[in-house]
Amino acid sequence: MEELKQKQNLEEIIEKLSMGEIKFTKLDEVLGNSNLGTLVRRLYLEKKYGVSLSAIGSTIIDFEELKGRNIENPIGAAQIPIGVAGPLKINGEHAVGEYYVPLATTEGALVASVSRGCKAITLSGGAHAYVLSDHMTRAPLFRLPNAARAIEFIDWIKDNFDRIKEAAESGTRHGRLIDITPFMIGNNVWLRFKFKTGDAMGMNMVTIATDRACRYIIENFTDADLIALSGNMCTDKKPTYINILMGRGKTVVAEAVLKKDVVENTLKTTVDEMINVNIRKNMLGTSYAGGLGANAHAANIVAAIFIATGQDVAQVVESSIAYTWMEKTGEGDLYASVTLPSLEVGTVGGGTRLPTQFEALKLLGVAGSGDPPGSNAVKFAEIVASTVLAGEINLVAAIAAGHLARAHERLGRGKG
Ligand code: NAP
Repeated sequence: MEELKQKQNLEEIIEKLSMGEIKFTKLDEVLGNSNLGTLVRRLYLEKKYGVSLSAIGSTIIDFEELKGRNIENPIGAAQIPIGVAGPLKINGEHAVGEYYVPLATTEGALVASVSRGCKAITLSGGAHAYVLSDHMTRAPLFRLPNAARAIEFIDWIKDNFDRIKEAAESGTRHGRLIDITPFMIGNNVWLRFKFKTGDAMGMNMVTIATDRACRYIIENFTDADLIALSGNMCTDKKPTYINILMGRGKTVVAEAVLKKDVVENTLKTTVDEMINVNIRKNMLGTSYAGGLGANAHAANIVAAIFIATGQDVAQVVESSIAYTWMEKTGEGDLYASVTLPSLEVGTVGGGTRLPTQFEALKLLGVAGSGDPPGSNAVKFAEIVASTVLAGEINLVAAIAAGHLARAHERLGRGKG
């Protein structure tokens, strides 16, 4: 009886949605519950378009938890398979141990490929990893009356750094303003704010803090006109050289020396062939094509880890810029490294608290706040960079050995 009444109620609400009597965006508010709102939105769309959305609706996500944080107009969730690559031995400054790294992907052969790279690194004693710099940026853009006044503005910013810092940090426990770098074109001035953000990737934290700083600036330097809180010199979700040269998020290096025997027996190629492929394909080919970075497929690994662990996936754009370097050691082994200048990762905030994403971070021992704050995020950055190294090593080896197409035919076309 109760069930029948509920069904009638839902049908009435769907009818009101169709008539425009209830707004799509106000559904959760009207129903007083986001999970119910999610169901009704889905039923409405199923009826309107004559499709079944039952797979999208099958999720463990509690949309009440996500309200006002992660999603608007929810109808369910996308599911992407997670495989693990590993074990990967890392002797980092923060990440020390053997890791199975979760990769969320639908690209057949990717997990197998990274796993073989992990095996080669682990058999050779492990990867070393270092976080060279760690900060998140926001660069508001101001218009001044003329260049002379723009120069005075930049001087004023330098002279008043402590007061600007106080305004910026007034609403955050972990955000710490460490620098403001000015850039100028004519009467336009960009101030690139750099913050420490603890374990958060930090984009929301830094945007809110920079907004507070800007309000202080325009109240006290009254002919500075704030054109945009983000003036694209930050640079978020666009590929740029400023991130490469000045860093954004974590700047990380991961390196390993692969024993000659491991290259020959595990990777089925030679040290010289791998160096040859790296120089001609990654360095020369990328340079000729006008690309940023120089790597074989860093984005594959960065994207798969980002999806599995709840990172902001659009930041794969700059987080996957990577330089892969290979050379022969005096002993005839292979030195291989990757450098990622702008790896934007966090272990709190954003999508990291969603159920599957949080478990994936737990698997790596980096879920939530670190002790001290910030230590989980740098450890995670070292794991990501070391996994990128494994991916680079394996793909360069596969190309050197002429195995690439064969692996994809076997593992990407259901013939494995
Ligand atoms: P966030 O979820 O907005 O902020 C992190 C929160 O965690 C802060 O409230 C912080 O408190 C708290 N916190 C608790 N323990 C912490 C610890 N150990 N370290 C650092 N913070 C800790 O996350 P966010 O990383 O700043 O932003 C990520 C989100 O920004 C993603 O959802 C992404 O999609 C979105 N995003 C926003 C923009 C934008 O322009 N706004 C652009 C791109 C992406 P305190 O602040 O008090 O320290």
